[in-house]
Amino acid sequence: MPTSTITDELSHHERRLLRRAGSDHLNQWLTHTASTRGCRRPVRLTGSIDTVERDTGRIIDTRHTASDMPDGVLYVPCGDRRASVCPPCAETYRADTYQLIKAGLTGGKGIPTSVAGHPAVFATLTAPSFGPVHSRKVNPRTGKVAPCHMRRNAIRCPHGKLLVCTQRHTENHPSLGRPLCLDCYDHAHHVVWNCWAGELWRRTTQAMNRALRPWERLYGVKLRVSYGKVAEYQRRGVVHFHALIRLDVRPNIDPKRGPVQDPDAILAPPADITGQDFAELVARAAASVSFETHPYADTGHTWPMHWGPQIASAPSATSAPARSPPKPSPPTWPSTRPRPPKPPGSHPPGG
Ligand SMILES: [Zn+2]
Ligand SMILES: [Zn+2]
Ligand SMILES: [Zn+2]
Repeated sequence: MPTSTITDELSHHERRLLRRAGSDHLNQWLTHTASTRGCRRPVRLTGSIDTVERDTGRIIDTRHTASDMPDGVLYVPCGDRRASVCPPCAETYRADTYQLIKAGLTGGKGIPTSVAGHPAVFATLTAPSFGPVHSRKVNPRTGKVAPCHMRRNAIRCPHGKLLVCTQRHTENHPSLGRPLCLDCYDHAHHVVWNCWAGELWRRTTQAMNRALRPWERLYGVKLRVSYGKVAEYQRRGVVHFHALIRLDVRPNIDPKRGPVQDPDAILAPPADITGQDFAELVARAAASVSFETHPYADTGHTWPMHWGPQIASAPSATSAPARSPPKPSPPTWPSTRPRPPKPPGSHPPGG
């Protein structure tokens, strides 16, 4: 009768793991791989490392991966930002980015703490619609999920599909983000929009800087926007951007304009400009940007590029509050203050 041991039932991978755990060099191996911080798919480098004396250029030590390192390789974290690819590296990136953005808003890491008083805005910029998709809308007041696409006068698309979905989709429902009619949905525009979204953002930052000119003339300073932004995919597979945008005064480097300042200095804007003023400027600048893509090589077709109608731009929590009394608007600036909120109870029924 054949005898079987536990090790016979283990996979190749598990057997290697056991061998490693029982090895005399386990501690050395753990120290060697610790720098990858748990990376799932570290890059394996082979070759030699020279230690060079800085002043003389003389090589004082050489280590070869093949002979001097466990496994014969040097492990380096993959550094991928996507949690779907490498959760530990994505987490390192997320934590680094958080610290960087926090420093940009409140100071630290070489940035003066005075930036906490600068007007700053949290903006969310999304793509326009390329056709109706299944979605999940939650009423923020009641927490109830609304039907996906309710239409009183439901219409049929040219392909005969009723553009209606009465379901209240669960959070991870597989149809979320899928078009109601795959043939109506403008897939080409969707793909092109993702491809050109970076250029749309670049032009938006230019528009913001241009929009600052009336304030520059009014206050006699040079202004600039500094930002940190992240791109995320929505359910429908379209990119959207979240950006924290801060307003700074550009240091003077022109002797003709007055005393020259440190070009790296981060200077506070005039105290009259509030976070709300800046949020309105960012929203207006983003809404004003549009362009046509280069013609597609085969057909010469171009696609319009602009943001969707829902541009969210609000003063960040660190932004300086509005001062009183309210200052008059700059003379060259159209006044587009938001309307005061309606008194409670004035909403139309069902609204
Ligand atoms: Zn990794
Ligand atoms: Zn639906
Ligand atoms: Zn259709």
